[in-house]
Amino acid sequence: MESLGNFIDGEWTKAASGRTLEVINPATREVIALVPDSGPADVDRAVGAARRAFDLDGWPQTSARERGRVLFRLAEYVRRNEKRLAEIETTNNGKPLAEAMGDVSDAGFCFEYYGGLATKIRGDVLTVPDNAMALALKEPMGVAGMIVPWNYPLMMAVQKVAAALAAGCTSVLKPASQTPLSVIELARGFEECGVPRGVINVVNGGGRTVGMPMVTHPGVDKIAFTGSSEVGKLIMREAAATVKRLSLELGGKSPNIFFADADFEQAVEGALFGVFVNQGEVCSAGSRVLVQRSIYKTLLDAMVEKAKKIKIGPGLLPDTKMGPLVSQDQYDKVLSYVEAGRKEAKLALGGGRPKGLPKGAERGFFVEPTIFYDVDNSATIAREEIFGPVMAVIPFDKEEDAVRIANDTPYGLAAAVWTRDIFKAIRTVKSLRAGIVWVNHMQPAPVEAPWGGYKQSGFGRELGPHGLDEYLEVKHVYINLDERPIGWYK
Ligand code: NAP
Repeated sequence: MESLGNFIDGEWTKAASGRTLEVINPATREVIALVPDSGPADVDRAVGAARRAFDLDGWPQTSARERGRVLFRLAEYVRRNEKRLAEIETTNNGKPLAEAMGDVSDAGFCFEYYGGLATKIRGDVLTVPDNAMALALKEPMGVAGMIVPWNYPLMMAVQKVAAALAAGCTSVLKPASQTPLSVIELARGFEECGVPRGVINVVNGGGRTVGMPMVTHPGVDKIAFTGSSEVGKLIMREAAATVKRLSLELGGKSPNIFFADADFEQAVEGALFGVFVNQGEVCSAGSRVLVQRSIYKTLLDAMVEKAKKIKIGPGLLPDTKMGPLVSQDQYDKVLSYVEAGRKEAKLALGGGRPKGLPKGAERGFFVEPTIFYDVDNSATIAREEIFGPVMAVIPFDKEEDAVRIANDTPYGLAAAVWTRDIFKAIRTVKSLRAGIVWVNHMQPAPVEAPWGGYKQSGFGRELGPHGLDEYLEVKHVYINLDERPIGWYK
């Protein structure tokens, strides 16, 4: 079995303690690799390397063209290794290979996108009242600590690293301890792509032992975190001591709203795709399906019929449409929500382990697509993020009821609305308190457009031009053009 390393200051190293963590394939529970179980000493080395690369070795002074070229080479590297990276992602995370191929393709494009944007960072010239000129310059924020979750392991890392590189920042990246393998594979290409030593460092290990030491380290200027709202709140508290810049991409309980005039076939598939893609382990999962009463029964029946046909199995099998959950913990958590759901709503489909799994996958963390209906929006399964293939169907009567129920949540990451009435669509879009709203679709996340939440789903944006701003400070430069003394003290 492969024993993999941390990537610190351009070199592969073990944890200072020598300890390792087991990485498993969730479809079989097999241990597939060992990675360093790092601690504060490893974080300190990585931050030291990132600091030196930023303060002394000149990465921020590298021309934007050169940084752009490094990013283009990273895009090429990802494309050349697309199949291998996707197979690693599927083997480690569980998701169907076709979905992993999509993620890797997005990761390649993300490097390319920020490679192009590196040369388009621009400030402003501002009108000021005196005989002076005021400039707003954009400058790199410094050393960025990045903490990512296990649901889109490669893409969550790349969307941070690519923007940071373009901005001229250096990074220390912590993959989720369950899913470090695709990021480690990516790091193998850093040297070949011309990433200088110390500019990107990868430290493996747990949230408490690696993540938190990054948050409290005085050498880190900014933390980009994607994960649960619970950990996000903790990070916010701890980051206050050193006034770190923060971007937090947190959880959600997103409403997927179906008006009676929606295209029916589109609606059926859109509701299922909204919550079952990536086994429901999606921060923006449309886990609350709000359906107008006049189509409630027909849409529910049609969803159940179609969901029965979703092929569940190991992600590497070509016809798999839903893989296993990522870990035993996640499997237990999802099934405990299913148990809660049985007490507070009606079960239309699923709720347990699928039968007839292929040989070798009998012990994998598979859960059936599960549909609860007649769910009240106050129920646990309508309020808490489950992060698994569990849909809560909620009826509504009028447009204003849909909006009220949709917004009745502490979260505000995403929402979708399905209708053929453009007036109703735009009215609803404007009333929803969420950072991403889809009309007649759910889940596309183009690299070119901003991603992030309202309310307790976090703040800051990743992707698109807004994602770059998260790694830039604004410096006001005031240039006096009056050659006389100020004339204040006579
Ligand atoms: P999580 O438990 O919050 O973990 C996320 C990351 O934080 C992991 O790398 C984890 O490390 C680390 N971590 C855990 N405890 C920490 C601590 N005390 N200090 C510092 N770091 C710590 O979330 P998850 O279960 O991996 O991911 C699922 C969550 O992510 C869901 O809530 C989902 O909605 C959210 N998410 C949000 C977005 C978005 O864009 N808004 C996207 C994807 C996922 P270890 O796991 O290695 O210990």
